[in-house]
Parts: sequence; C-alpha cells; structure tokens
Amino acid sequence: MSRKTAASSAARAVAAPLLAWYDANARVLPWRTGPGARKSGARPDPYAVWLSEIMLQQTTVATVTARYQTFLTRWPDVSAMAAAPVEEILGEWAGLGYYARARNLHACARKVAGELGGLFPSDEAGLRALPGIGPYTAAAIAAIAFDVKATAMDGNVERVIARLREVRTPLPAAKPEIHARAAEITPRERPGDYAQALMDLGATVCLPRSPRCMLCPWAGACRACAAGTAEALPARAPKAARPTRHGIAFWAVRRDGAVLLRRRPDKGLLGGMMEVPSTEWRAEPWTLGDAEAAAPVAARWRLVDGTVRHVFTHFALELRVAAAPSGVAEIADGVWCPIDRLSDHALPTVMKKVVNHALGAR
Ligand code: SF4
Repeated sequence: MSRKTAASSAARAVAAPLLAWYDANARVLPWRTGPGARKSGARPDPYAVWLSEIMLQQTTVATVTARYQTFLTRWPDVSAMAAAPVEEILGEWAGLGYYARARNLHACARKVAGELGGLFPSDEAGLRALPGIGPYTAAAIAAIAFDVKATAMDGNVERVIARLREVRTPLPAAKPEIHARAAEITPRERPGDYAQALMDLGATVCLPRSPRCMLCPWAGACRACAAGTAEALPARAPKAARPTRHGIAFWAVRRDGAVLLRRRPDKGLLGGMMEVPSTEWRAEPWTLGDAEAAAPVAARWRLVDGTVRHVFTHFALELRVAAAPSGVAEIADGVWCPIDRLSDHALPTVMKKVVNHALGAR
C-alpha cells in the first residue's frame, strides 16, 4: 500500500465514528443540508452556504438562525443581492456585528454576479480571493458547498483536535501543529458532512470547560480523554502582565466655574474624544514639578488626594489629579464647560472617573 493510500485509509478510519455520530445527531439548522438529505442526492446551494458562513462570523448560531431566513427571502440568490443598494443590506444587518462584514457581503455578491457569471468558485484559493472570505470561511464553503476536502479551522475545531491528539504546546504557537493534525485526518469521503460534524462536536460535546466525553464518538481514540487532560487543553500561553502607565490630569476651573476640556487627537487611544487635559501617560510616575510644564494653563497646582485607576486592554492607567485652589485664567485653547453641563460631552469612562474624583475632592 502506498503512503498516500495508507494516509487516506487512516483518515477514513478516524472520520468513520464521527460521521456515524453525525448521521444520528446532526443539528438541524436552516442553512444546512443534513446528512440524510445529502445521501438522497440533495446538494447545498453555494449562495446559501456562503451567506450563512458570513453571517456566522463572530455571531452565534442562535442569532443567525433568527435572521438568516429574512436575508434569504429578501435576496434569494446572488444576483438579487448584487442588485440591491448596499444601504438595504446594511439596514438588514443591524445587530449582526461589524458593518464591514455587510459591506463585504455586498461587494462579494457583486463580484460573483458580475465577474464570475453568478457562480462561486469551488476551491479555497478562488474563494479566498473574494471580499470578506478568509481561510476558515473559504475552507468551510469549499467543504460544505462543494464537497472538496478542506480543513476549516476555528476555535472550536482547534479545541477538539488539540484534545484528540493531545497537543500540549500552548496556543497560539500550537496552531500550525493543530492544523497539521487536523489536515491529516480530514477524509476524502464526505468532506462537507465531516466539516459540519466537527463543528457540531465542538458546539455540543467537546465543550470548552466540561467536555462530555461519555457521549463522544471519539472517546476511544482521544488521547486527552485517556490521559485525563481534556479540560486543560488547548493550553494557552500566559498573558503578558499588563504594564502600568502614569499621568497627571489638570482640573482647571475658571473663575465663573467652567471646567477646561480638550479634544484628543483623532488617531490613537480614545481618538477624537473629549478629556480633562493631562500629561503624557508614561511608564514612570510623574512628580508635580515635572508635570507642570505640561499643564494647559499656569496656576498654583496642588495634587488631590488619591489616584484614579483605569484598565485599558494593553495597560493599566494610574492618574493623579492636580487642581488649582483658586480659579485659573482664561485661555483660548480647549473647551470651557460649565460643571453642570459636563454630561453634555461624551467623556470616555476614564475621564468620567477623573471628573468624579475632582468633584469629590472639592
Ligand atoms: Fe473532546 Fe472528550 Fe471527545 Fe476527546 S473524548 S474529543 S476531549 S469530548
């Protein structure tokens, strides 16, 4: 037996219990052509498969289930969607996540209807060349719509394969290894059913916290189940400790009681939002003497007791607040806002904390 034939029959042997389980337990989903229908010769509509896969990107099955049919009724084929104004697609998309995905949906429909004669490509490379289709979606569409052998890897499938083969390398470094293990067991027979079986196994049996190994068709083959390591896999690299940055915010109140705000630069963190003026946010704590050069107006600044703390994704911020005991002079820059009108400005949360801290200290 050649190496290729041996690999193919090994993949078939691993896939067989999963496919048998899928035949009996496949989820009924509105966009799915189930295993029974496929055996009777039914074939999925590539447009419907594509539409469902785009809708499912970062959106739950339950949410998409409630909305998919409306899309399909309004735009029953790719030509109908291509002919629709993009505003109508965006309007129907409300609540389904990033509008960029809806724009790509429309751009993709136009490309398929206009340049490809209304036919979706059947291979991963051709699909990936279309707007809004990445590696996972291309593999899923190729497998499900065209029964092409393709390995669709998302977080659920990564988890199942990491456990089945007991890949202990932490993510994200383990991704190439997990992908290789997944690819070597993807069968040539029924690749569309196999891809959906893996999705169903990850969603209903091989759950992140409590895998239901007793119900799993791969329980006998699963290395993590045998070793008792399933719940700990896939391993994840510890997150790098979040650094702390420091700053001083200047609570400048004019003699008539108006508070000085300014708009942050459009680019960067909190871009374009209003703020209480502050120093740069840096790794070393500031002394008031250092910080005064960055004050928006000259005054006899005093530090208010206490610290404002806020956690951003990549760092924790500790802000001291400096206030001038008597009113500060008028300056042309910035926006002077009466204290009782501060809520008119959509201040970011960290700046609301600064306002509350300064008001609490008065
Ligand atoms: Fe996941 Fe358990 Fe099945 Fe292994 S046996 S694939 S850990 S559910």
